[in-house]
Amino acid sequence: MTQALERPIYLFSIDLEDIRDMVPDGHSLEERVPVNTHQYLDFLKKQQAHITFFVVGDVARNYPELIQQIQHEGHEIACHSDKHLPLTQLNQEQFKRDLDTNINALIKAGASDIRGYRAPMFSLIAQNVWVYKYLAESGITYSSSVLPANNFQFGWAGFGKQPKAIDGVLELPMSILDNPYLEYPFGGGAYFRILPMFLIKRTFKRFFEQNKPVLGYFHPYDIDTQQKGIRFPNIKSKFYNYLMYYNRKKMWKRLNQITRLGGEMMPYQQYIQQYLSTNEL
Ligand SMILES: [Zn+2]
Repeated sequence: MTQALERPIYLFSIDLEDIRDMVPDGHSLEERVPVNTHQYLDFLKKQQAHITFFVVGDVARNYPELIQQIQHEGHEIACHSDKHLPLTQLNQEQFKRDLDTNINALIKAGASDIRGYRAPMFSLIAQNVWVYKYLAESGITYSSSVLPANNFQFGWAGFGKQPKAIDGVLELPMSILDNPYLEYPFGGGAYFRILPMFLIKRTFKRFFEQNKPVLGYFHPYDIDTQQKGIRFPNIKSKFYNYLMYYNRKKMWKRLNQITRLGGEMMPYQQYIQQYLSTNEL
């Protein structure tokens, strides 16, 4: 059962990935992950907030000091796959290997108490629901991997908007605009940059009034105004690729406007312990 919230909650999270790991010759491009991550860490320090970082295995191997710093500053470390491949490209055996390699990379980098998982690109959909049993086997207790709507990339409309447990793993689906014609996430990522600000703000307020948390996610590149224009893997359309760069320079202004609405940020694990009783879901 979901408990009433004591105050508005914004489950702000970071998907810590390096676009250079995903494109050919990517590492000939300028390194951007540490500088962008430090900007987020500074922002969180100012907010006196602790959140969850979902970290790709490659990033943990390349930047162990960064992982240690994130954890040292009180944030939670969770999984975001090892190679950032959409789950639709993996069979069950490959998924299990990818997950365990991700977990081991995080542990080797110094992370502890790893309980969470987020699928690359919200690619956890009805056809790969088998993922949950492997998550449970590897000690993962919650996931935030479902975009509960139809989407041009990946979406699982039939999942529903509420958290629920599957094979012992609690899934917290991404928050979606409460408009049947615009079923997009609004609390993070490209959508947070692209959608009109009045709509984002109005929806945040409505969620908070209804005692619903807003789940959101950001990437290092979402705030990066210096990154050279590269084609994002798995985004075939030129237009969608353009949107991956759109409005990055407005991100901090937008984020500051949203934080003034008073949503408390916290790690997923803390939120689950405080507000969700998994036995009853
Ligand atoms: Zn990702």
